[in-house]
Amino acid sequence: MFKFLKRLFKGENGVRVRIAPSPTGYLHIGTARTALFNYIFAKKYGGKFILRIEDTDLERSDKKYEKDIIENLKWLGLDWDEGPYRQSERLNIYEKYLNKLLKEKKAYWCPHTKEELEEERNGQIANKTVLIHKCDARDKDLSRGELIRFKIPKAKPVISGNETIYPADSIIFNDIIRSQVHFFTDPIGDFALAKNISTPLYNFAVVIDDYEMKISHVIRGEDHIANTPKQILIQRALNFSTPQYAHLPLILDPDRSKMSKRHSATSIEEYQKQGYLPETLVNFMALLGWHPSDNKEKMSLPEIIQCFDIKRIQKGGAIFDVQKLDWLNSQYIKKYDNEALLKLIKQLPDFEIAANDSQLLKIINYGKERAATLKNFQAIADSYTRLNDYKSEMLLWKNTGAKNTKENLRKTKEILFVILEREFNKSGSEKYLMPLADSQGRGEVLWPLRVALTGRDKSPGPFEIIDVLGKEESLKRINMAIEKLSNLII
Ligand code: GLU
Repeated sequence: MFKFLKRLFKGENGVRVRIAPSPTGYLHIGTARTALFNYIFAKKYGGKFILRIEDTDLERSDKKYEKDIIENLKWLGLDWDEGPYRQSERLNIYEKYLNKLLKEKKAYWCPHTKEELEEERNGQIANKTVLIHKCDARDKDLSRGELIRFKIPKAKPVISGNETIYPADSIIFNDIIRSQVHFFTDPIGDFALAKNISTPLYNFAVVIDDYEMKISHVIRGEDHIANTPKQILIQRALNFSTPQYAHLPLILDPDRSKMSKRHSATSIEEYQKQGYLPETLVNFMALLGWHPSDNKEKMSLPEIIQCFDIKRIQKGGAIFDVQKLDWLNSQYIKKYDNEALLKLIKQLPDFEIAANDSQLLKIINYGKERAATLKNFQAIADSYTRLNDYKSEMLLWKNTGAKNTKENLRKTKEILFVILEREFNKSGSEKYLMPLADSQGRGEVLWPLRVALTGRDKSPGPFEIIDVLGKEESLKRINMAIEKLSNLII
């Protein structure tokens, strides 16, 4: 059994996997999850994880996206062992293989223009036939044209190694996650390999690179599954061995539609900006389509690697559950000490709070249990420091009149005034104010105090607020309240 697994998971060159993002957008959560599964698989089997930037589409590729992808993979801690390789820097390699295929008549120049193809397509739509280009130049051996196409081999029976006879117009491959996958080649048609000799297209460049980079396992999103038979056909034409495939389930929004920007943030950058921690995202993404046999949810990357089993990846779509993401993030936030959280919070873009570092440290300490994201600390801080404009009547507790309320606030002020700076904190203010609250009534004393400090009927406890605001600001706000009450009495 062990030998079998070893053979299954280790090619001749050991496990070599890759993440091959196209720099046509910011690092997408789907790509990041694919990177993570490849990374985990490489670590699990002592293999190599390779970063390859697929930037052959010059119109859509942008260096700013490449930068974002690289920075965010690093931020997630998914460091690669080799690369980044760039397809744009490897054009001579593709050219060599394109020439080989042309020479061996396994590929050909197609002379048809976009307009001609469009016309053919419209005809096929009208006749309800398969939408493939049937090229009359297939065997003409032209020396130039509009595109280089792959010549899908004509049907003839083939015998595979284990003596099973497959019809040649079928491509069957074993997917680690989906078992046997079967495609007919007929509806594929002679697909394009390159725009010209120095502009390869995706399916072709991928095959050459996977071969040249000795990739043992292609672990990628299910959205690529229809490309796999095309890639296998190219491998066969070039006598390359076929890597092991594993197609990961799609990530779905809660309504089971494919994850889209409309529903959820899709780039890692956005999650970073909202204050999700990298360890949260790694943990969360590992659970998008996989879970350990004991169903444990909070796991560090080394733990995940330890119990990871690629065969446990599910076939069905993985629902993106924001509540679970928030729960996990809150668990990780709690593990950080206050200073470390302060540093992280201050790195967040557009984070605005009217509080200094020592106030923030107190706020973090009090609010840590409630924060689902680092960004939440903005609202939490606000709940401690903001003073709303309020009506004087709000200071009155139930039937207590303005005069008594004013008297209670005056006493409160006197008590706070004489507390020494070193005791002017949550427990100190509580210790000295509670006897007054107990003698005059808790509502009578603590309610006007809360309103005086915040102008709100809901807020964190007044002793925590006093601690955060400090003596000067607390007394200033209480004085304002006393003044408001004086106006009410007159
Ligand atoms: N460049 C492709 C993408 O960004 C990935 C190709 C592959 O994994 O084969 O989706």
